[in-house]
Amino acid sequence: MSRSTPFDTLLVANRGEIACRVMRTARAMGLRTVAVYSDADANARHVREADEAIRLGPAAARESYLKVEAVVEAAKRSGAGAIHPGYGFLSENGAFVEALDAAGIVFVGPPASAIAAMGDKSAAKARMANAGVPLVPGYHGDDQDDALLRAEADKIGYPVLLKASAGGGGKGMRVVESGEGFQAALDGCRRESQAAFGDQRMLIEKYLTQPRHVEVQVFCDSHGAGVYLFERDCSVQRRHQKVLEEAPAPGMSEGLRREMGEAAVRAAKEIGYVGAGTVEFLLDADGSFYFMEMNTRLQVEHPVTEMITGQDLVEWQLRVAMGEELPLAQNELTITGHSFEARLYAEDPEQDFLPATGTLTRFAMDLEGAELDPARVRLDSGVATGDAVSMHYDPMLAKLIVHGNDRAQALATLNRALAALDVQGVVTNRAFLQRLATHPAFQACELDTRFIEKNEATLFAPKQYSTEEYAGAALVGLHQLARECESDSPWDRHDGFRLNAPHTIRIALCDPAHAQDDDDSEAVVVVEGTREREDAAWHLTIGSETLTARLDSLEGDAVAITLDGHRRRLQARLVGEGSERNVVVIVDPRGETRLFWRRIDAIDHGRQEAESTLTAPMHGTVVALLVEPGARVEKGMPLMVMEAMKMEHTMAAPADGHVASFHFQAGDTVGQGDVLLEFAADD
Ligand code: ADP
Repeated sequence: MSRSTPFDTLLVANRGEIACRVMRTARAMGLRTVAVYSDADANARHVREADEAIRLGPAAARESYLKVEAVVEAAKRSGAGAIHPGYGFLSENGAFVEALDAAGIVFVGPPASAIAAMGDKSAAKARMANAGVPLVPGYHGDDQDDALLRAEADKIGYPVLLKASAGGGGKGMRVVESGEGFQAALDGCRRESQAAFGDQRMLIEKYLTQPRHVEVQVFCDSHGAGVYLFERDCSVQRRHQKVLEEAPAPGMSEGLRREMGEAAVRAAKEIGYVGAGTVEFLLDADGSFYFMEMNTRLQVEHPVTEMITGQDLVEWQLRVAMGEELPLAQNELTITGHSFEARLYAEDPEQDFLPATGTLTRFAMDLEGAELDPARVRLDSGVATGDAVSMHYDPMLAKLIVHGNDRAQALATLNRALAALDVQGVVTNRAFLQRLATHPAFQACELDTRFIEKNEATLFAPKQYSTEEYAGAALVGLHQLARECESDSPWDRHDGFRLNAPHTIRIALCDPAHAQDDDDSEAVVVVEGTREREDAAWHLTIGSETLTARLDSLEGDAVAITLDGHRRRLQARLVGEGSERNVVVIVDPRGETRLFWRRIDAIDHGRQEAESTLTAPMHGTVVALLVEPGARVEKGMPLMVMEAMKMEHTMAAPADGHVASFHFQAGDTVGQGDVLLEFAADD
């Protein structure tokens, strides 16, 4: 049989982080690796890392990664003896497995018959009932008569969940709160299921109101052995998509762990399973658990299991596919510590998680700078700095996986690691992950599948900023601008700052989401100090508070900000385009702060009496200088015209006097807050 044939070349029929991850293990096992790619991925990371790569077709997955014949052809062309499907794409496609069997290529996964057995929800439930695996109370029979279904729902007790037997991806699924709404919901689900799957069969389940999603990793070899590698809790989901996963599941007793593990192995054996699989259960508040479905492939979240067991699941998969026995028996498997995985998506949580695209101008993680132990932190990613993120595929960029001696330590490491992850150029859910991972309810293990929904108010609340955050952002903005301008030193030229002279600067800060609003959401920080030395102290006034502050640059984007003797290390930078680079981003282990930064005046105290300055109200272009320096003007006379947002703005004389100097010429671009000219009023 082909599955017991050893092979020396592995083709990975996938892309992104999973393709890179599978090839890493394959290489370590001495296998030659072959990648496949679509036109959108011609220079993608998985292609760069493979020994060989073969083009499948155009960008659309239908014409490339999902095309069975093209993948089989690529295997033949490269001489690959085996194909690892990763997850998604062809990983649970029975016809693909049959095509490989026919071509004598090993499929790293279960037999087609096992995939088929789990493909239909009703049929799978019947098999599971047979194997003594607990099911959610419900009905999954063939008789689909309206009155009978209604009677079954009444018997189960409301709320019930209607599910399409042929369903997947949450389609054709509806919660029914009471008998009155049943018929309408049934009609709706049938229509949806017919449209999506060409099938109208329904099953009914009791709807559990506070279940946790707990799944068991199982492994079987082709010699009849099967083990479980414990469980993962994946309750933190957004629209049935997992966001944060952990292993082991908090609060599991040894007894329950064994019971669920053994039920999962029974489920796998019932369908003649071979390889890595996951049996998903709903765990109810009272400790009852119910079979939900089996995923007949490696899961996205498998690394948390690897972290707590010390095993490489891809190596297990490849060994099993080569016909070897399972590397370990049940009593040789143990759990060490705790692990979390956070999924980094290119999406905007503030815009209903809209997928984001762009070019990653930076994608890096500074483990050393954040003092993170490389043995405890793993970044599985399919991208690198410079890569483009397109609309064609799943927006997951990477997975951050951490390990700790216990849950609290692992969670602290997760937060530090999220803070050390530096992603620029593409909007991601990184800050949202930080809000989740620092959420008190998550820290207290108050887990259920509606966690995000239930905590929406606090997870998405408009941010309240602390004095420390305002102070830090004000300084970071000043510091970064100074550093960027150092080459031609406009620091001294444009803005009223004078070396060795005391000065005052006012900075307005507000939530970037409200940058266009009227002023009441703004905080004003008054900064006083000198620039004799870069690390000189500043005096900051925010409302009624005053603080002594200093800023020290460390390596890269890292800075240390000391406020009244309290020093904090953080990552800080300015983001935005060109001279609109005015959002300060500060990341520390407690989360991410973004503040829109704007100078609202610049006054040189030394000469304030005799001279005043005029600053640009917004980013724009100088259109014309209307007077000669030195020429006398009267208060209100136009001095200079600038254009911003397609409108002209005239700078007028603030008093009788003369322009001492202009800082810009017609045609120059000016940034918001730039000092445009020096004005000397008459005595
Ligand atoms: P699909 O195959 O469409 O993804 P599943 O049967 O796997 O559908 O269910 C998806 C999600 O719906 C689960 O992860 C869980 O959050 C929720 N769910 C499923 N069945 C129930 C149930 N009986 N009670 C409560 N929630 C459920």
